[in-house]
Amino acid sequence: MHVGNLRTALYEYLVAKSQGGKFILRIEDTDQERKVDGAVDLIYRTLERAGLLHDEGPDVGGDFGPYVQSERLGMYLPYAEQLVKEGKAYYCFCSKERLQSLKDNDEFGTGYDRHCRDLPKEEVERLLASGAEYVIRQKMPLEGSTTFEDAVFGTITVENSELQDQILIKADGFPTYNFANVIDDHTMNITHVVRGCEYLSSTPKYNLLYEAFGWEKPVYIHLTPVMKDATRKLSKRHGDPGFEDLIAQGYLAEAIINYVALVGWSPGNDREFFTMDELKEAFSIEGLSKSPAIFDETKLRWMNAEYIRKLSPEEYIRHAEPYLEAAGCGHMDKSIFARILQPRTEVFTDITETVAFLAKMDEDYSVDLYTNKKSKTNPELCRDILAAVIPELEALPEWTETALHDFLMNYAAEHGMKNGTLLWPVRIAMSGKTVTPGGAIEIAALLGREEALRRLHHGLDKLNNM
Ligand code: ZN
Repeated sequence: MHVGNLRTALYEYLVAKSQGGKFILRIEDTDQERKVDGAVDLIYRTLERAGLLHDEGPDVGGDFGPYVQSERLGMYLPYAEQLVKEGKAYYCFCSKERLQSLKDNDEFGTGYDRHCRDLPKEEVERLLASGAEYVIRQKMPLEGSTTFEDAVFGTITVENSELQDQILIKADGFPTYNFANVIDDHTMNITHVVRGCEYLSSTPKYNLLYEAFGWEKPVYIHLTPVMKDATRKLSKRHGDPGFEDLIAQGYLAEAIINYVALVGWSPGNDREFFTMDELKEAFSIEGLSKSPAIFDETKLRWMNAEYIRKLSPEEYIRHAEPYLEAAGCGHMDKSIFARILQPRTEVFTDITETVAFLAKMDEDYSVDLYTNKKSKTNPELCRDILAAVIPELEALPEWTETALHDFLMNYAAEHGMKNGTLLWPVRIAMSGKTVTPGGAIEIAALLGREEALRRLHHGLDKLNNM
């Protein structure tokens, strides 16, 4: 599910919940050509993970089922036939070839020429009796205009002369998307329709159907697109990540939802952090934007980091564990990881790379790394420090963070050394890196006695062989 669709679902959910309504899941699967394997499962998975729990739907039931359009197929034709009887729709017997030639010669985009709109009754009956193939079309008014209110865009007026006699029932007896939608929305008591503004121009057609049946129209809420940048929409086709991609990239569902809520909606102040319950509370249709909003991954990353910092250490580790495992650090002390990684994790996938040196370090690092201005170290000094401190570390009775800390601090004090001067060579030898999560003490504790000492000896050998 791409981010645009997720946001539409979120706004639908918030419109419903902010007004004490129900969020209803209906699967629209009548367009067999557009059917994608696994798409329905993906919808269930995404809604659940995003916390958009539906009150009615195919899996949870409800009073207005079935909730899968292909299970409702028998319901549509009688409604279309009712409109034919009332003179608001008609049978069209035009052949595919005739319609195609209309299309081919249609330089003004006027579409179907209403050839069958006024066929004599006897002719219609004769053709039906002969078993001729037909579609049912809606009779659009030929004059005047149709006006409707959109909750975001305000009053929209369309000249009726621009509206085509749209097909309601196709030659195979199945409804068109637009027709099935109106029948379903009415029979399922839908009060608010939230959808992309690409549907804005077809809304008058929907409304004319409601009027033809004498039904109450729903409230329309059309949303501007989610943009990648000023020129193009966010799209999976262009490789922009969908919800599950973002989860796989190490984003928290709560952070994604919080950020996506703000792409096209404003609470009316500069507040940025909302739980789902707070969104339900704060959401209002008036806050929806009329202009397209840009999905800014840098901003999402920032927000995700904020969410990660708010996790308890236990929750943090639960999320981080797969990435620690993947880096080969699954056996190391998790509480140390929580302490050193949580403040700096922006997305969980970063962890694998950050801790990789703990599982396997690059031992071909340059001895230049031992030179550090701030710690006042150079390779020669580091060689002497390591040569002196390694035997004492080997003699430590206990290899814990506390024991390592107490020993190293005392050692520096006793030898009149700055802590930094002692810790620099120890950390470089154990990591081969100048920038690491955690310092020498945490790294030594994570590595354990044997591996830490092996690395320290390797560092000393390297310095001895300069
Ligand atoms: Zn026709």
